[in-house]
Amino acid sequence: MRDAQLIINRAALLHNLQLVKQYAPHSKVLAMVKANAYGHGALIIAQTLEPHVDALGVAFLAEAVALREAGIRCPIAILEGVFTPEELTQALDLGCYLVVHQAQQLDLLADYQGQHKTSIWFKIDSGMHRLGFLPQEAIPAYQRLQTIDCVRELILTSHFACADDLSSDKTREQLAVLDALHLQLHALARSFANSAAILAWPQSHHQWVRPGIMLYGSSPFATQTANDLQLQAVMHFQTKLIAIKHIAAGETVGYGSTWRADRATRLGVIAVGYGDGYPRHIQTGTPVLINGQRAPIVGRVSMDMLTVDITDIEAEYGDTVILWGDTLSIDEIATYAHTISYELACQITTRVERIIL
Ligand SMILES: *Cc1c(COP(=O)(O)O)cnc(C)c1O
Repeated sequence: MRDAQLIINRAALLHNLQLVKQYAPHSKVLAMVKANAYGHGALIIAQTLEPHVDALGVAFLAEAVALREAGIRCPIAILEGVFTPEELTQALDLGCYLVVHQAQQLDLLADYQGQHKTSIWFKIDSGMHRLGFLPQEAIPAYQRLQTIDCVRELILTSHFACADDLSSDKTREQLAVLDALHLQLHALARSFANSAAILAWPQSHHQWVRPGIMLYGSSPFATQTANDLQLQAVMHFQTKLIAIKHIAAGETVGYGSTWRADRATRLGVIAVGYGDGYPRHIQTGTPVLINGQRAPIVGRVSMDMLTVDITDIEAEYGDTVILWGDTLSIDEIATYAHTISYELACQITTRVERIIL
């Protein structure tokens, strides 16, 4: 009966995309499908989005190659760009858009001998200090790009460090840097906004937005839930209750005997563990949902199973257990795991059965 399942709800995905378009009605959409579409399955997500978006975004070439080989035809942007002449040739053969964020990539493009041209996303480090040309390097890099044959079009792009924090000045500071630069490169289209900026910083939308997490139905903000934002969960993680037992007060549960029952306890054993991607370090007390009722995890999460206290709820052998989904938000579970939904979703392992709705 082992029955851990990941249900992927495509209607929810398209609903969330509509919300992106409501927030940024004048922008093209580059939908992020990197990291196996945040763990949701890159191909199924790309196939579902392809008719409705302007481009898809991946981190590196191999992710784009896999999508092309599986038949995805729409533009794919490679957000870290390419690093060798072979990669450049392959990316251009596949019709990929390329981010260019450092001088070596200018040299690569300049040395390209082939016939293809593509859209180049000229990346500025406006304050995140990860990838991108510093503002003072931007003008010479821009001038060089204008002499390079394979550049069909240039888009000014940058990424925000704190767009999810409405009380931080960082986004305003980054926008000021970018606005000043754009005045000097005024003809360029711009792409700055991730999900948080789509939702909270309309002045950053410009010609292209780059939603990721909101497409998957999770909130980028600590202070607003997915529900508040009318986002719908795309990923639904569930399994079954495979055993029930009764233990006396004072007994301990699981590896390390870290949890001790302070009363006679009815214990449910659930067929999900860290081998499925459920976080091992999650706190005791983290809820699962059984028949619409919350039951707290007790004891350590093991590889294939975890245990919950079902003394106070109605739960029987074989009942469905929801780890997260539309009725138990992945964002809430992420706080119990001291992480963010992005990481939980990415960590689901391949042995979990996937069901596409
Ligand atoms: C992942 C990524 C995004 C999407 O971010 P979300 O917070 O998931 O919306 C946008 N832009 C870049 C450059 C990214 O790497």
